[in-house]
Amino acid sequence: MNQYYRFGLIGWPLEHSFSPTLHRAVLKALEVDGEYELYPIPFLSNWKKGLKEIIQRLDRCELDGLNVTIPYKQAVLPFIDHHTPTAHNVGAVNVLFHADGQIVGDNTDVSGFLKDLDSQFSLPGHGKALVLGAGGAARAVVYALASLGWQVHLTARRLEQAQHLVQEFRHLVPPPLVMRFPLADAARIMSAVDLDLVVNATPLGMYPFEHASPWTDVIPLPQDCLIYDLVYNPSETQFLRQARKQGLQYANGLGMLIQQAALAFLLWTNLPDLELPNIIQVMKAVGSF
Ligand code: NAP
Repeated sequence: MNQYYRFGLIGWPLEHSFSPTLHRAVLKALEVDGEYELYPIPFLSNWKKGLKEIIQRLDRCELDGLNVTIPYKQAVLPFIDHHTPTAHNVGAVNVLFHADGQIVGDNTDVSGFLKDLDSQFSLPGHGKALVLGAGGAARAVVYALASLGWQVHLTARRLEQAQHLVQEFRHLVPPPLVMRFPLADAARIMSAVDLDLVVNATPLGMYPFEHASPWTDVIPLPQDCLIYDLVYNPSETQFLRQARKQGLQYANGLGMLIQQAALAFLLWTNLPDLELPNIIQVMKAVGSF
């Protein structure tokens, strides 16, 4: 009898996630028996209990694989047995899977981000980037860019969070630089810097912040700069609208979502790498509605 796979997503809030659509389409297209469900864990006082219970279900093999999203990518680390070197270096996981009887955490956001950035903009080897935000996704983005030799500037509304991230990545060459100003001042201070790329790694632009942008409307984005928004729903965020109005090249995070999801699907099912283009093609077809 064919294996029936149980996959899902943990995080909060989840109702706007595209992940179920992407994974269910691949299950169907590849004729793999299985399901992909949402497991919302309200970010309330008892969130640790909720997280522990779902990880125990994975441990008992009642579930075969999980994606992890905002706000648990770092919080889940103490609950798992092992992480891949990438997840260890980034300090955040977005996918959990079984290997040799253990629960392993990996971070497919890193290669998902780089692959999509390259396919959107045919990236030069390295340059100067500004990353807005310092949470789980920002960690993956900073690590991805800095490990390719990019000079990364980082700013967040809580400076201590950005400083902590930069401190952890200080071994990368060149080390990321933390900006000693809050997110609200990023536009004013950085618009004069010769930046090649600005990445939004905050939830500003997605529900419930649809009308917000991490970049103030009164200051133009740096000239000739590529703009990448990790938010993908709505497809054109306020930040991307600013980029479009200025005639800059821009992309939302749907491509990254698809790349990281396809890599997760391979980890869960042990399908050969050869299937990756096929999986990406199916996900792109349903993601482009
Ligand atoms: P996270 O770990 O919660 O971090 C979010 C970061 O944004 C933190 O620095 C946070 O600061 C800051 N932030 C939150 N609300 C803010 C606000 N109202 N104003 C200014 N800063 C704010 O979340 P994450 O996992 O990094 O995700 C960030 C975004 O990226 C989300 O929208 C997520 O959907 C998206 N994402 C997309 C992909 C993709 O594949 N396209 C992958 C990963 C993430 P505080 O700590 O002070 O709250």
